[in-house]
Amino acid sequence: MQQRNKDFKALAKILSEKSVPESKEELIKLPGVGEYVASAYLSLHQNKRAVIIDSNVVRLYGRFFGFETDGETRRKKWFIDLANKLTPKRNFYLYNYSLLDFPRNICTQKPNCTKCILKLKCIYPIENKN
Ligand code: SF4
Repeated sequence: MQQRNKDFKALAKILSEKSVPESKEELIKLPGVGEYVASAYLSLHQNKRAVIIDSNVVRLYGRFFGFETDGETRRKKWFIDLANKLTPKRNFYLYNYSLLDFPRNICTQKPNCTKCILKLKCIYPIENKN
């Protein structure tokens, strides 16, 4: 938490002196800004296509397609390639917004499969008898 506070102060100082960078390469050089924040910022606030990956997205895709995940899955090339293929070329911001909301409200740690619109295509309820 202390590091986050330090990063936040450093980020605020930098952004008070110059504008927010427009490329992912420049964004991730900012203190406390990683791939996820940079991609979310670009796609949701700059209307630039970017692929969002966090632990919630890994959990959702893993359940839906039926593959095992761990703490390293998000960094694997095959997973990044999959997430890239699933992210649409147009209306990507709607898709990315849904990736923020859906795993937090429906496909949670304890998934609400009975309420889920994906339940007929998702592997998880079939394998787990939900
Ligand atoms: S059916 Fe269940 S496991 Fe599959 S996406 Fe929906 S909530 Fe998640």
